[in-house]
Amino acid sequence: MKRYSAFAVAREAARYHLGWERAWAAPEPKAQYDVVIVGAGGHGLATAYYLGKNFGITNVAVIEKGWLGGGNTGRNTTIIRSNYLQDASAAIYEKSRGLYETLSQDLNYNVMFSPRGVMMLAQTQHEIRGYQRTAQANALQGVTTEWIAPARVKELLPIINLDGPRYPVLGALWQARGGTARHDAVAWGYARACSAMGMDILQKCEVTGIRQQGGQVTGVETTRGEIGCTRLGIVVAGHSGVLAEMAGFRLPVESVALQALVSEPIKPCMDVVVMANTVHGYMSQSDKGEMVIGGGADGFNNYTQRGSFHHIEETVRALVETFPMISRLKMLRQWGGIVDMTGDRSPILSKTPLAGCFINCGWGTGGFKAIPGSGWGFAELMAKGHSPLTEAFTLDRFREGRFIDESVAAGVAH
Ligand SMILES: Cc1cc2nc3c(=O)[nH]c(=O)nc-3n(C[C@H](O)[C@H](O)[C@H](O)COP(=O)(O)OP(=O)(O)OC[C@H]3O[C@@H](n4cnc5c(N)ncnc54)[C@H](O)[C@@H]3O)c2cc1C
Repeated sequence: MKRYSAFAVAREAARYHLGWERAWAAPEPKAQYDVVIVGAGGHGLATAYYLGKNFGITNVAVIEKGWLGGGNTGRNTTIIRSNYLQDASAAIYEKSRGLYETLSQDLNYNVMFSPRGVMMLAQTQHEIRGYQRTAQANALQGVTTEWIAPARVKELLPIINLDGPRYPVLGALWQARGGTARHDAVAWGYARACSAMGMDILQKCEVTGIRQQGGQVTGVETTRGEIGCTRLGIVVAGHSGVLAEMAGFRLPVESVALQALVSEPIKPCMDVVVMANTVHGYMSQSDKGEMVIGGGADGFNNYTQRGSFHHIEETVRALVETFPMISRLKMLRQWGGIVDMTGDRSPILSKTPLAGCFINCGWGTGGFKAIPGSGWGFAELMAKGHSPLTEAFTLDRFREGRFIDESVAAGVAH
């Protein structure tokens, strides 16, 4: 695979861009692989990449029922932060945030990581206590965050109205190296790197069954035929319950649609990411100038990947209180993705009751930020059977009562 570089761009410009190679191959499925990953979202692709890069395992297929990155990875609002409360969470999210810092160079693909700063507004006394506690925990974990007063909030974000009619802004938890990245590019960058290592990315290939013998996984049934493997990773976000049922076990997750919308593009007016969790809305401005706005999750379980009118109304109404200038913006697009929510709002990266079958799910509303760290840890778990990054996130914790409670960091926030 040819490297992307300034020289390559200049060379192709001179010859009408006719020399670019396909970014990844479109192979036919083989009968057998060492590892099969179901789900070509960010987490599945990152797992495959680190299996190859860190452990030399390259006889890998990543199987995707639609197109790669077409699930939540291509539908999210791209907030990246690591200001979680529990040590196990801080470890995996900060590992991930750190990997994002150099991901473009690592993948030789510009993922447009933009560490512009993430601000989580406190608009109740309860939130002040929650975020100040998180800032203290982050200091002990080595994660750089700070509690900032309203005056500093205004300085960083001049368009904010501190004296909202319902909820005034009382301060914020600020992570200066949090930010955003381009979601498609993250999926495409990993896919290209996986393909370059000889892995097969099989799009339009739905897994319809999981084969097993004597309690050991032996392969998958797909719409493109049977594919054998000795290790299987299920990384399908909102469809995890469906795949788990095929493998013969149950998961403590609920699937709901989470929605987002973008406005028409406007001139640059904010250069941070802001989250207002009490009124429930969050916003950043894309490079094109659109205001990227995240809304809530549906209040009922469903698999519909689309938006609905009441969410536009609720989300925009909430944000207009704090950002009156958006009241005259036209909204361009709205969509939904199916997220997988656990009771403690922490993910599951675990072995399963089926030997050789591993599950990575439960990232709920906040897994984009975790893609590199999750892929790193899950690849280690699949290759070696254990990983320090994933050891707290087992399925057993729900049976044993060892919850990793992240309801302040991830109950509403993304
Ligand atoms: C509107 C919205 C906003 C969000 N905002 C943020 C945010 O700001 N920050 C953040 O960190 N996170 C955010 N998230 C969450 C984040 O998008 C997800 O946690 C993350 O993308 C999950 O990645 P994934 O690779 O696990 O899943 P996905 O990207 O969903 O990939 C799973 C893939 O599995 C495939 N699949 C499913 N079933 C099968 C099958 N039977 N056979 C083959 N393939 C199958 C699907 O087609 C899909 O492509 C948001 C999510 C949504 C929906």
